[in-house]
Amino acid sequence: MSSNLKDPVPHYINGEFVSSESGETFANISPYSNEVLNQVSQGMKEDINAAVLAAKTAFKKGEWGTLKLNERMKYINKIADLIDRDIEVVAQLESLDTGLPIAQTKKMVGRAADNFRFYAEMVKNRMSGEAYHVDDEFINYTMQKPVGVAGLITPWNAPFMLETWKVAPALATGNTVVLKPAEWSPLTAHKLSEIIHEAGLPQGVFNIVHGFGEEAGAALVAHSDVQLISFTGETKTGSEIMRNGADSLKRYSMELGGKSPIIVFEDCEFDRALDACVWGIFSFNGERCTANSRLFVQESISERFITALKERVQNIIVGDPSHAETEVGPLIHRDHYENVKRYLAIASEEGCEVYSGQVPEHLSNGNFVAPTLLLNVKNDMKVAQEEIFGPVLTVMTFKTEEEVIELANDVPYGLAGYVWTSDMKRGHRVAGAVEAGMLWVNSQNVRDLRIPFGGSKASGIGREGGHYAFEFYTEMKVVHVAV
Ligand code: NAD
Repeated sequence: MSSNLKDPVPHYINGEFVSSESGETFANISPYSNEVLNQVSQGMKEDINAAVLAAKTAFKKGEWGTLKLNERMKYINKIADLIDRDIEVVAQLESLDTGLPIAQTKKMVGRAADNFRFYAEMVKNRMSGEAYHVDDEFINYTMQKPVGVAGLITPWNAPFMLETWKVAPALATGNTVVLKPAEWSPLTAHKLSEIIHEAGLPQGVFNIVHGFGEEAGAALVAHSDVQLISFTGETKTGSEIMRNGADSLKRYSMELGGKSPIIVFEDCEFDRALDACVWGIFSFNGERCTANSRLFVQESISERFITALKERVQNIIVGDPSHAETEVGPLIHRDHYENVKRYLAIASEEGCEVYSGQVPEHLSNGNFVAPTLLLNVKNDMKVAQEEIFGPVLTVMTFKTEEEVIELANDVPYGLAGYVWTSDMKRGHRVAGAVEAGMLWVNSQNVRDLRIPFGGSKASGIGREGGHYAFEFYTEMKVVHVAV
């Protein structure tokens, strides 16, 4: 165990770092070596109850909701400054915990500080209401109030960034928070609690309970004092959460799985499309919700494009995630590794050619999967329809625009899509026709925090990001005044 790691990782409840009431812990395993890194407090219903009570008390009786806006934003900006100060440590912990290459976690952690700064500005400038005079008899006006206790449930694939993506708007709009981070990536969630503690937020405003989804997560969802759940994770977990939360009627934001198409037309800028395609599936070990996991390349250039892809796949550097040059690291957990390997076996059974890059022999203890192309894929195969969530690209060809739109949409998911063409009329047309929440034309997955983020079909419900987050994290109130 590294001396930097807390053992066991504690919860953060009512401004204190505490163990589980039961005293139970679970092991946090290294994706690189499959050795135990440290133990983590295993939150149960009692721990969730304590955290929700702290958050409820802070919301109802505490100063958080009544703080002047500028004062609240000072805390939010302070959190951003502390993240920036600790960026190296957070990036290293994230890489150690998840197997994501260090060069990539550094960029992601930088975005976490941006999330706080962005919402500090956004709340000041854009959280507003409307007012109407009616026949000199009434003034009717609206205001946005915080909802109450926000339950936030997050995945392991870019844990620190995704936690802050929810925590920042939830706190900035005046809610109090109970965060249940993913059990496979507790380290940077704990670091976030240390940062928020240091920022000096009033006690109970922000709480973390570690533990498993079926225990801590389910208890948070079912709790009647939790008014909203913002969830990012698998589609089937999203359905289960909505079922379990039904009795206590809450609002949900659901950011779920994806199987996003990248459509490459013959008139594209070949090298840029190739770069984007490789980056979009193999960065973040392929464990990216918006990964372009289904390539559709126009038949006339398919041979050249696939040959170039094969060459790129052979040259991707698979290695120790803590090394600066590593491009693909080990998958998060042995169970997930087995699952991705199972899909490769299914691909062979379904008649695909499985074309893989290299994993150096000395890495055999880790959860390494070589960057892989699945060739001769048909769109109705399991590997083209289900989210694999690893460094695996399914490759298909098409002849016409109409055909590719139909193929791209013939999938349960609708998170993202990418179009490469020099014909901008076609770019707009295809972007409009692909059934997904977010489309990129001649560009890779770049983010703009002002723009809504989210998916359609089985990829999600609602949008977060920009001022769209206000609708979710606030309650709209109307006041009618006789004049
Ligand atoms: P997951 O659904 O297994 O777990 C996500 C979180 O939910 C974890 O904290 C887990 O403990 C918790 N959980 C599990 N069961 C629960 C239950 N019954 N009640 C309450 N909480 C429960 O997802 P994962 O494997 O951690 O993450 C990968 C998935 O996340 C992929 O499908 C990926 O596409 C998706 N994802 C989506 C987005 C997006 O913005 N759309 C972003 C990142 C990841």
